[in-house]
This record gives sequence, structure tokens and C-alpha cells, in this order.
Amino acid sequence: MKQRVLVVGGAGYIGSHTVRHFLDNGYPVVVADNLIYGHREAVDSRATFVHADLLDPDSLDLLFKNHPVDAVVHFAAFAYVGESVTEPEKYYYNNVMGTVNLLRAMRAHRVKKIVFSSTCATYGEPLYTPIDEKHSQNPINPYGRTKLMIEQIFADYERAYGLEHISLRYFNAAGASADGTIGESHSPETHLIPLVLQAIKGERKDIKVFGTDYDTPDGTCIRDYIHVEDLALAHRLAVEKLGTYNGCINLGTGIGTSVKEIITAAEEVSGKKCPTQYVERRAGDPARLFANNTKAKEVLGWQPKYTRIKDIIQTAWNWELNRKY
Ligand code: UDP
Repeated sequence: MKQRVLVVGGAGYIGSHTVRHFLDNGYPVVVADNLIYGHREAVDSRATFVHADLLDPDSLDLLFKNHPVDAVVHFAAFAYVGESVTEPEKYYYNNVMGTVNLLRAMRAHRVKKIVFSSTCATYGEPLYTPIDEKHSQNPINPYGRTKLMIEQIFADYERAYGLEHISLRYFNAAGASADGTIGESHSPETHLIPLVLQAIKGERKDIKVFGTDYDTPDGTCIRDYIHVEDLALAHRLAVEKLGTYNGCINLGTGIGTSVKEIITAAEEVSGKKCPTQYVERRAGDPARLFANNTKAKEVLGWQPKYTRIKDIIQTAWNWELNRKY
């Protein structure tokens, strides 16, 4: 029998792709979301949808009472780095307290398994690349600190209560479902690839490239863009691994791509020029971030299907051309 999976934050970008991946592989899925940032249309109709909020313990109690599950996949968090600096309380309250509420409800209903959406932002300024899981964790903003705190809470819950947990530290999630029916839609949008594609479409005046004087071959920042369906796959493998492995695993392709390379690839995919403006660096952007993904391959048996940036951008472009939400 497949495990019954609760996806918290399943109406969001990575959550909605993960929901669909579990369903396609025969798992019964319950989605809980407060729909503050999530999109109801993004939730596959085969899933059971419950409107619930991590800051409302009664809604969580009802959720677990009415929908017995074997494992939880937890995406629900605020994720705007800049806002986390100006409004840290919003982030500590929602992300950290919300997760403790979730863990309380899980304990009350005897659910021991959780896969968590963590981030390479927990490492902070990299001391070396590619970054492996042993790299020190010194997040440089409140968003990254909330994710690190949650990883640490899981370790304490493991020791005290036998929690089974895997935290997946994503690098830069990108792309959309291959069939173009679900994809990325943030309001406001801050991520590079959708902004570039929207500038190409003429929906934005231009793309502002933050800094051209970094110590990289073309002077722009290098990131590790990983396709959202490869992230989704890793969540299913992690759910299956719970009970035999506890801890943190990087999810990236291991390949670095610069901002200029993203713009060039997007121009090739779309066949159009991207209006570009070069501006000052954005605070808090390390020159290069990319993953050592050996652990994901060894522990989860995971292998990314998308390793070419143009293929990733092609799926994002298909989605941009025909967005449903
Ligand atoms: N970036 C940029 N212009 C933008 C948005 C992002 O030059 O309008 C750069 C940013 O400095 C970083 C990369 O694109 O080097 C990826 O940024 P994004 O915000 O997508 O993800 P992050 O790496 O910050 O999580």
C-alpha cells in the first residue's frame, strides 16, 4: 500500500508540482493550504483539498482527525528574503511557530514522518563550492534562519519523540510542469527566470541585472537552477526513505549558470531579445552558489532529469505563454 501523504503548502509553486507527482505515482494525497500565497487552481483535482492554517491549531487538529495520513510533506512558509529582513516577526511567527504547531498536531495524531522544504540559504555566504551538507550553516537573513531553526527543531524532536525527518535544501527552483498546466506564479515576482521571460514578453520594461563586477567569468552571479519536477521526485524518494534515514540533503543539479547565461538561454528559447539593464549589486547575494548533490544521489537514489538550462527555461516559457493563474 502506498503511504497517505499530507502536503502542507500544496497550492504553492513547488508544492503543487509535488502533489501532482505523488498522485501520478499512485499515492493518495491531502493538500492543506491557507491560500495566502498559494493558488487553488494549482491543486490537482485528484487531491483532497483542505483550507487550513499552521497558525490555527484547531484547523490542524481537524485536518488530522478527518484525514488520517502516514507522512507529511511541509512546504508552507513565507519566502521573501528581503521582506524577512524588514519584517522578521512575520517570518519567525509563520515559519517557525507554524512548524511547531504542525509538529504538535502530528504528535497528537501519531504521525511521525516529515519531509521539509529547506534551502541553501541556511548555509549563508559560501566558504567553498560546490556546497555539500557538511558546509557550516550561517544564514545571513531571517528567512534562512527560520529554515535552519526548523531543521534544528526536527533533530530535537527526533531525539525526544522519535520524529522521522528529512530536510531538503533546495538551490534555485525553476521551470514548470512539462505539459505547461502548472508553473511558477508569485506576487510579487522576484525570481530571475520568470522576470526575464516576462521582460521578453513585454510585460515588464526590462530585467535589471544585479551586479556585473562579481568574481565570476562574466561578472554576474552564478546559481544552481533545478527543475521543479526534479524537486518533486526527490520529495517522493524522501518520503520512502523516512524511517531509515534522518537528516538534511541538498537538491541541486551541481551545475552553475550565470545571470547573463540565463538571459542568453531565455533569448534562444523564445527567439526574442530581452531588454536588459545593468544595475548595482543586490545586498546579500553571494557570487556563486551551487550544490554538491552526491548525497541526494546516494541516499535517495535521485538523479535530476533536467541538466540543461535551456530545457528548464523551455518549460518555464511554455508556462509563461499560457499561464492559468
Ligand atoms: N537577479 C537579477 N535580477 C533580478 C532578480 C535576480 O540579477 O531581477 C539575480 C540575483 O542577483 C541572483 C540570481 O539572479 O544572482 C537569482 O536570483 P533569484 O532571486 O531568482 O534567486 P536567489 O538566488 O536570490 O534565491
